[in-house]
Amino acid sequence: MIDGLVPALDILRWTTKNETAVCAFNFSNMEMLQVIIATAAEVKLPIILQVTESTINYIGLDYIIAMVSAAVKDIDIPIALHLDHGKDSHICKRCIDAGFSSVMIDKSSARFTENVTCTKEVVELAKKAGVSVEGELGTLTGREDDVSISGAAELFTDPDQAYRYIESTKVDSLAIAIGSSHGPFKGQNAPPKLDLNRLREIKCLVGPFYPLVLHGASAVYPDLLDICNRYGADIHGACGLKDEDVKASIKFGINKVNVDTDIRVAFMAGIRRSLNENPNSLDVRKHFGLAKEMMRDVVIKKIKLITNTANGGSLD
Ligand SMILES: [Zn+2]
Repeated sequence: MIDGLVPALDILRWTTKNETAVCAFNFSNMEMLQVIIATAAEVKLPIILQVTESTINYIGLDYIIAMVSAAVKDIDIPIALHLDHGKDSHICKRCIDAGFSSVMIDKSSARFTENVTCTKEVVELAKKAGVSVEGELGTLTGREDDVSISGAAELFTDPDQAYRYIESTKVDSLAIAIGSSHGPFKGQNAPPKLDLNRLREIKCLVGPFYPLVLHGASAVYPDLLDICNRYGADIHGACGLKDEDVKASIKFGINKVNVDTDIRVAFMAGIRRSLNENPNSLDVRKHFGLAKEMMRDVVIKKIKLITNTANGGSLD
């Protein structure tokens, strides 16, 4: 594990003890990583950094490790580096060997027994290295598509299955499907409703100290999308989760909230605005500079919304 990181489970245990949640921010480049780390250090609260396999393919695993090592050096807050949606044990092993402190094995689209077998395999690999593992059960709809999630309750996580999955695999945390979805189109003209009763039922079965994860939790703020559209984007009908619904999910037992779309929208709004306002500038740093500023505001807003503790961010 890279020096300066902690296993995600250390942070998740702290969230269950304090009845709060941690933000898990995806980054796609150095600038986004810098903003996430600087902002979390400023508010002195733990965070989880995460990358998908496509980001690993884009940046390169060695570059990710080098950038994160530099980013967390001398930073005095608990930080984990997590693989988001690892599709098999191979990519999980690559990340564990490279120095990640947490991996997700996502076999949610496979049969239950296959999901259990693969998850167990990754848990065994990870435990040897002191690395945490997140599993997933249930299906999140709407990957980049405008798919209605109403009537998709059969895709939601089954509470009894969740209990059996955790018992059989000993996985450290579980991502559940309760109505959120990936990408900017989470509902048709109205924010999706989260199935909080199902969440409550799952938490009752798995216990108050078992960490649960909410994916696809971005709000898709209209003001930032408007800036994108004003400066050339063509994204309409996007709709995310209401901030108050994310808060309610934390009250009902969510401990890790994944945020990707919202920081992408902010970053892109900054780039588009800067290109428009500085049409003669070829200075990449200038355009990325405004993108970083706009992203910072969203990171602060998310951390304040999601991590609520009177005791500060020390895990002790
Ligand atoms: Zn996800």
